[in-house]
Amino acid sequence: MNNRTIPFDKAKLEEIAAKWPTPFHIYDAKAIRENAKRLKKAFSWNKGFREYFAVKAAPNPHLMKLLKEFDFGSDCSSMAELVLSEKVGNVGESIMFTSNDTPAEEFRKAWELGAIVNFDDVSHIPFFFESVGAADFSKSLFCCRYNPGPLKGGNAIIGKPEEAKYGFTREQLFDGYAQLKAAGVTRFGIHTMVASNELDPEYIIDTAKMLFTLVGELHDGLGIDFEFVNIGGGVGIPYRPDQKAMDLSVVGTGIEKGYRELIEGRGLKPLKLFMECGRCITGPYGYLVARVRHIKKTYRLYAGLDACMSNLMRPALYGAYHEIVVPGKEGSGDTTVYDVTGSLCENNDKFAIQRVLPVLERGDLVVICDAGAHGHAMGFQYNGKLRSAELLLESDGSVREIRRAETLDDYFATLDFSKLGD
Ligand SMILES: *Cc1c(COP(=O)(O)O)cnc(C)c1O
Repeated sequence: MNNRTIPFDKAKLEEIAAKWPTPFHIYDAKAIRENAKRLKKAFSWNKGFREYFAVKAAPNPHLMKLLKEFDFGSDCSSMAELVLSEKVGNVGESIMFTSNDTPAEEFRKAWELGAIVNFDDVSHIPFFFESVGAADFSKSLFCCRYNPGPLKGGNAIIGKPEEAKYGFTREQLFDGYAQLKAAGVTRFGIHTMVASNELDPEYIIDTAKMLFTLVGELHDGLGIDFEFVNIGGGVGIPYRPDQKAMDLSVVGTGIEKGYRELIEGRGLKPLKLFMECGRCITGPYGYLVARVRHIKKTYRLYAGLDACMSNLMRPALYGAYHEIVVPGKEGSGDTTVYDVTGSLCENNDKFAIQRVLPVLERGDLVVICDAGAHGHAMGFQYNGKLRSAELLLESDGSVREIRRAETLDDYFATLDFSKLGD
């Protein structure tokens, strides 16, 4: 049985659910703020440290605005994410445009917004120049994404770097920066993202050191200086009760040590450290709240919720574990084993398989934890399931709707029934 604490009790949740019917996602603003402060503190040794929130993890402008209080920028990879960022006032170098397989119009939009353009491939450099046309590139920051391939060991979600579609090879980096330099670019950054949901601080520290070394080599080879190193996202969160959160201060201290040795020690120009985390910024502070709709007993015991995998597909997609809390029944000795399901016509529509939970009844509220990143955002409408509302639990305990629930009209909005004929 878990002992996970959640920022609301049963009475409070019932009060919220009376106004916004389940299922809904709710984010804890206070906890998001405290975590943002922790992250900044861990890297306060680095002048210019900046987190660019990976918008795809929780593409809600109200959350982005909350993060902007801490001067977090936006890591965008699509037109919609660029527009969201623009709407919250993150423009210019507050945008890191880390896309791949990029269409020309997105390069143009990123360029118009003054974003830091991060190239995913060496062939995208001439494509970018072609897409935006003649311009003065000397004042803008450009970046290339490195894929170390077999030079770096694998990670569970992203897998082996050499099998990942992202980034330049080492040789291509030298070519890419030379091309940029030839086009008049004078301001450079370098990026990599080789982990996802990684809990080992050493992996993140090693990634930063790998880039610091590369900065020295590119400096020596091409005579260019770098303004920043972006180590990407990928900091994991403890989904399982036996996992431990990554201690950001350990990561900060480890990277600082590498910086002193590999950047300062080599007499290279000062570098800003950038990150583009999503998961560890909002993940643990978002909850999917649902109600038990039916209890069914056949060969197994099923608790059917009014939420389904279209509200949170990580369990179905990756077999991911998400802690489940039943408010009012926490710590109850009266437990049994359930498969917790949704109503989708897909047998993998399960939030938990053979999970020990307090004995459930129809109408019980159920809170699925760690749904704050790559949760609502991955939602879909298969089977006509509608995306839920998103709510924000403010620091003063009040609740605000930050996205309304979809309606059937939203679902049918792209159809014109009048054209059906008789
Ligand atoms: C997904 C992604 C991130 C965020 O990853 P998290 O695991 O949520 O921290 C950052 N940068 C890039 C390029 C990504 O694709």
